[in-house]
Amino acid sequence: MVFDLALIKKLYAELPGKVAAARKLIGKPLTLTEKILYAHLYGALPATAHNRGKDYVDFAPDRVAMQDATAQMALLQFMTAGRSKVAVPSTVHCDHLIQAKVGAKKDLELAIETNREVYDFLSSISDKYGIGFWKAGAGIIHQVVLENYAFPGGMMIGTDSHTPNAGGLGMVAIGVGGADAVDVMAGLPWELKMPKVIGVKLTGKMSGWTSCKDVILWVAGQLTVKGGTGAIVEYFGDGADSMSATGKGTVCNMGAEIGATCSLFAYDEKMGAYLKATGRDEVAALADGIKEHLRPDVEVYADPAKYYDQLLELDLNTLEPYVNGPFTPDLATPISKMAAAVKENGWPAKLEVALIGSCTNSSYEDISRSASIVEDAVSKGLKANAEFTITPGSELVRFTIERDGFINTFEKVGGVVLANACGPCIGQWARHIDDPNRKNTIITSFNRNFAKRNDGNASTHAFVASPEIVTAMAIAGTIAFNPLTDKLKNASGEEVLLKEPTGFELPPKGFAVEDAGYQAPAADGSGIQVKVATDSKRLQLLEPFKAWEGTDLKGLKLLIKAKGKCTTDHISMAGPWLKFRGHLDNISNNMLIGAINFYNEKTDTVKNQLTGEYGPVPATARVYKAAGVGSIVVGDENYGEGSSREHAAMEPRFLGVRAILVRSFARIHETNLKKQGMLGLTFANKEDYDKILEDDTIDIVGLSSFAPGQPLTIMLNHQDGTVENILVNHTYNEQQIEWFRAGGALNVIRSQFVK
Ligand code: SF4
Repeated sequence: MVFDLALIKKLYAELPGKVAAARKLIGKPLTLTEKILYAHLYGALPATAHNRGKDYVDFAPDRVAMQDATAQMALLQFMTAGRSKVAVPSTVHCDHLIQAKVGAKKDLELAIETNREVYDFLSSISDKYGIGFWKAGAGIIHQVVLENYAFPGGMMIGTDSHTPNAGGLGMVAIGVGGADAVDVMAGLPWELKMPKVIGVKLTGKMSGWTSCKDVILWVAGQLTVKGGTGAIVEYFGDGADSMSATGKGTVCNMGAEIGATCSLFAYDEKMGAYLKATGRDEVAALADGIKEHLRPDVEVYADPAKYYDQLLELDLNTLEPYVNGPFTPDLATPISKMAAAVKENGWPAKLEVALIGSCTNSSYEDISRSASIVEDAVSKGLKANAEFTITPGSELVRFTIERDGFINTFEKVGGVVLANACGPCIGQWARHIDDPNRKNTIITSFNRNFAKRNDGNASTHAFVASPEIVTAMAIAGTIAFNPLTDKLKNASGEEVLLKEPTGFELPPKGFAVEDAGYQAPAADGSGIQVKVATDSKRLQLLEPFKAWEGTDLKGLKLLIKAKGKCTTDHISMAGPWLKFRGHLDNISNNMLIGAINFYNEKTDTVKNQLTGEYGPVPATARVYKAAGVGSIVVGDENYGEGSSREHAAMEPRFLGVRAILVRSFARIHETNLKKQGMLGLTFANKEDYDKILEDDTIDIVGLSSFAPGQPLTIMLNHQDGTVENILVNHTYNEQQIEWFRAGGALNVIRSQFVK
């Protein structure tokens, strides 16, 4: 048993009382989101707790999960916080550093060899500080968490943006930066702006080719990549109760793509069944005992429009499969309109690679339904007409689907099973392509499809769909294929229609595994040495950042004015850079190299104002830093959307950038900037973005009276001698202003533990 039953018992014993007290104080029925949040307050219920979307509240999450890429920096930071053990149950999962190349066995062996020092570091630090360690090959963080740790009514933070996957088991699970994980592991309050609650009422029942993935593909189309910002999305209704727990997990997982804080479903029989199937009968029994508290109040069900800040309604009977993309997960096209959309938009119709699996869609249900399509295709004389890969989400799933013959089924059409890891989903993919600049199409059952995300090629058009649709398209070899209506020609020249997929929510013979890949921590870690080599290129112990100098920031040079989409992938690219996640100096050489310079429309080419020459962004920042000159980055809308990586905030901090000034921020990135002691500012008037000129020297004025809700002033000193003042807003509260003054949140934490 790896989950903490005592913790769940304690929470369930207290939850009904806490919820009743909150309901009484607030004077209205509660959504499930509110119940869970109020049961996890760090202190007493603040008077403003019901003020959704406005005020920050301190929470005490039950647990922390970290993936290997983000855990390195989080744990390097935790090490300096002065504690002997983590304050809440925490786990590390080695999933992001395994590159997909030829297949599971060889890829895993190579990863263990290549990443040995990182795995040794993570294993030793986990052992020392009481952290559960999941070895390389054990599986993808969110799948392993769903199988072992997620529980209804719980609250978790995770250093990965798809942490909300655990909402499939009714948990408020939020993706954060490593600095937040440090706070919670250190036992400090974790602060979150009280989220709004978006209700999604699901009625009816899915059938045929439609699957749970299509719910979130549809929602993404409705709400767009920004529509969930600052909100928790709560799914409810008889349609929700008809979906499998893992299917619910898929929906919550991809809720990250609409910018939602997280998503969740109410406790129901499907969750109970999944808990039992994964060896957690006691948790299911405990949850059954307080079932009504793990669902919204009945009044909320009766009149949802009254209690949710926004309400969407979807009849699952009418939902058809969707294909989202390319380049953005919210461009949603129903399958019936896909062929026309491919033609109209000039998307390459030929499908080159079809990829199923990942933490989003690798449940037993997903795999069994996809395998049924392959079996049907083979029986009708069809074969795959695109490369086809399968990424199991965990060793538990992989072992079980192998036992049940599904891997064998996929291999019949040339399917390649990759390691139980992120692989192509995070750009860890040595793709075999003749010309990387050729326009080409791939389709995945993953969640994210920004340019370059999967294979690093800007010309790759990546689409996202359910595993069933991806599998059907792998057989057809084209994304203009609609398996509901279109026939395929088999080897004998006959026209055949694929049968609707069928599968099992849970394995009829139960789950099985020989070695799940778990390493329990030492009971007493005091004698354990954390392994970091002094000459390591991949790991570097951290030096604290300097405190604010106490004055306005003057003479900042414009480093880059980024144009258009600037995700954390553009700010701190993944792929080959993942290996430097634990080495701040080395990874800083990727800072903003994917961002487009507004003035020349090029990536990684900016003007150095000290020399007048154009050069790479990181090198230019290093020149300013060496000269003792601060710099500033300007960005567009939803700056920092995408992954939660705090490197995207630490790198600019390390290279001397003092402020990021944008039209709007993605939530996690804005918080990460604050944690690192950076200034994250937004234009009070969005058109002022146009006033920033390439040769500007910039002053930030008003910092000595920096206060919540008070705008700051920015002086643009143009090269022609003119000066323009613009007003900029911020969302810093008192505590965050303290972080800014101290030079970062970690500096504040350390002062409490190390005297
Ligand atoms: S979304 Fe992709 S990269 Fe992220 S945890 Fe899941 S499989 Fe890994």
